[in-house]
Amino acid sequence: MSLRGWCPSLAEPMPAADGLLVRLRPRLARLSAAEARLVADAAARHGNGAIELTNRGNLQLRGFSAASAAAAAAMIGPLDQPVRRPGLLTAPLLGVDPAAHPAGEVLAARLGAVIAALPEVSGRAEKFFITLDGGGAAGLGAIGADIAMTAAAPAMQDAGWVLRRDGDPHAVFCATDAVVGVVEGWLRDWLRAGVARMREMFPGVEAAARGSAAVTVDRIPGVAMVSVPFGAMDAARLRAIADRAESGDGVLRLTPWRVIMLAGARADADAAAPAGARVRACVGRLGCAAASTDTRADAALLAARLGADCDVHVSGCAKGCAHPMAAALTLVGRDGRYDVVVDGRAGDAPVRLGLGLADVVAQFGMLAGAAV
Ligand code: SF4
Repeated sequence: MSLRGWCPSLAEPMPAADGLLVRLRPRLARLSAAEARLVADAAARHGNGAIELTNRGNLQLRGFSAASAAAAAAMIGPLDQPVRRPGLLTAPLLGVDPAAHPAGEVLAARLGAVIAALPEVSGRAEKFFITLDGGGAAGLGAIGADIAMTAAAPAMQDAGWVLRRDGDPHAVFCATDAVVGVVEGWLRDWLRAGVARMREMFPGVEAAARGSAAVTVDRIPGVAMVSVPFGAMDAARLRAIADRAESGDGVLRLTPWRVIMLAGARADADAAAPAGARVRACVGRLGCAAASTDTRADAALLAARLGADCDVHVSGCAKGCAHPMAAALTLVGRDGRYDVVVDGRAGDAPVRLGLGLADVVAQFGMLAGAAV
């Protein structure tokens, strides 16, 4: 099977088993409650109502025709990051967490302007993404960004930032005032090189040097964390989250961890749900022609059997859309059964082929962190 080398956007929907799929990259990974309701309306009115929170804090809307996708794009296009340019993902609590670097918001705005001024590069910019992590209670950690900016000491104004390019074994430490200039220079080097991902500029560097740490989000005082199991919700659920956000500061902070953070919002029953559950699954055969298994149902069964703390990724195929990083146990669907990858990504070499779920639990459950 060939793996697609591009990502969907509002401008370029991607065919899926349930119609066209569009992806919205909300600016700063945030939506006001009113904006979230607009997204819900676009999904329900023009698509099939299914909405997915991705592992980069983006939203995918499903079930469109070409005409209805265009109508949805007209509704929610103003919420999107600049098209055909690298994405910028900021740590979710930047600006509200006193332990995060105080210059984070200013840097995010300046970087956003730099990215918007870059020339469009269709076909390779959509996957390229930059993270801005001011530290504090909800830092982004290593999530495979092409360029990662991390506060050196979050609570100090002049402590500086650590900048990394994916694949480059050498980090750069620089003062806050110099960050945007360094990153802009790296972006222009990448544009000139004509490659898709930053790591292609550092051939020969072992993948292990790039980092693959999984992040588990602990509960944070004053922040309601709404779990979105497998990243899947419908329009009504998104509207309900928007309503709840208005009991706080009115902002939905999208995260890469299947969680939406609501600063100051009331605590509801689902605030007690495990926020950083490490069970991931793509849409599977219900929404993707590349899949032969019902990945989310199988992942739910595995979570019930192995426990919410297990580190499992159930992928419909080797592309690994739901989790491009390593997991303790990765199941890769093939012909209705699963190949098993241990401590690796969906595209890595499997250690066993063609197992059913019961055999996976019996043979590999312990490796996923479960007491079976
Ligand atoms: S990982 Fe899942 S959603 Fe992605 S292409 Fe494969 S089957 Fe489809």
